[in-house]
Amino acid sequence: CKARLEQVRHVPTVTRDGRVIKLFANIGNPGNLPQVLANDAEGIGLFRSEFLYLENSDYPTEEQQFEAYKKTLEVLEGKTAVIRTLDIGADKQVDYFDLAPEVNPAMGMRAIRICLTRPDLFKTQLRALCRASAFGKLAIMFPMIISVAEVRKAKKILEEVQIELDEKAIAYDKDMEVGIMVETPASAVMSDELAKEVDFFSIGSNDLTQYTLAIDRQQTALDAFFDSHHPAVLRLIQQTIENGHKAGIWVGICGELGADLTLTETFLRMGVDELSVSPPAVLPLREKIRSLDLNKA
Ligand code: PEP
Ligand code: MG
Repeated sequence: CKARLEQVRHVPTVTRDGRVIKLFANIGNPGNLPQVLANDAEGIGLFRSEFLYLENSDYPTEEQQFEAYKKTLEVLEGKTAVIRTLDIGADKQVDYFDLAPEVNPAMGMRAIRICLTRPDLFKTQLRALCRASAFGKLAIMFPMIISVAEVRKAKKILEEVQIELDEKAIAYDKDMEVGIMVETPASAVMSDELAKEVDFFSIGSNDLTQYTLAIDRQQTALDAFFDSHHPAVLRLIQQTIENGHKAGIWVGICGELGADLTLTETFLRMGVDELSVSPPAVLPLREKIRSLDLNKA
C-alpha cells in the first residue's frame, strides 16, 4: 500500500478524463509543515491560526503572528497558504480572552463574532497576515460566516488595515484572495449572494454537519446520529458549489468529509475545485482522484 502511494507522489492530481483538482492540506501548527511537504500537498487549504493564541498566556503580538505566517510561506516556496482568521471559542477556549461561560459555546461567542466585536484584536491579526502576504502566496479566510453583512464588515476592517499599510508604505500582496468558510447552514443557503463578495468558498463540513443536523460534533454519545452523508448536508454542499461557480469563484472542501474516499466521486461530479485534508490523507486521495473517470456514467 505504501509503495502504491509512492507512485502518486509528485504527479498531478487529475482524473482520467483530465479534470485537475487542487489537493491541499490542513494544519493547525507550523510544526506540521514538514508533514505537508512530506505528503506532497500542493498547498495549505486550511491553516487553523488558533495555535498562536492557544500556545500563549496573553494575546500574541503582531510581530509574533507575522513571523509565524512569513515562515510558513517561506517553507511553502510559492505554494498557496489559506490562513483562517481566529476561530477561538466553542471547543477552543483561552483564559485571557475572558469570554463569559456559555451554555451552548458552539453557538456562542466564537470566531468571526469575536473578531467583529473586538476589531482591535482582529486588526492585529489582519495586519500580520497582510504583511506576511508580501513573502509568498497567502489567502485570508473568515470562519463561521452567516451573512453578507458580516463579510462586508470583515472586508471593511481588512481594507482599513490595508490603507494604514499603504500610508506607511509597508508592502503586502494587493492581489491576495479573500474567502470565507461555508460551515453554517445560513452561509450555504445564502451562498449565491455571498459568492459575489469573495474570491473563494471553503466548505467546513464538520461544522456544517453539526449545525445542519443540530448534533454536537463533540458528543461521542451522538456519533450514531452524526450522519455526515446526510442528504441535507450533501445538498447544501452541492448548492454552495453551484452558487460559487455561477459567480465565477472556486469552491473547496476543508472539513473531514473531503478525505472520505467514498464521496470523492460525488464531490468531483458536483464540481468541487479543491480538497484540503489532513496531511496523511493527501496521497490516498490523489490516488483515488487519479482512478476516476467522470465521463463514465
Ligand atoms: C469545519 O468546521 O469543517 C472546519 C474545517 O473547521 P474546524 O474543524 O476547525 O471547526
Ligand atoms: Mg469549523
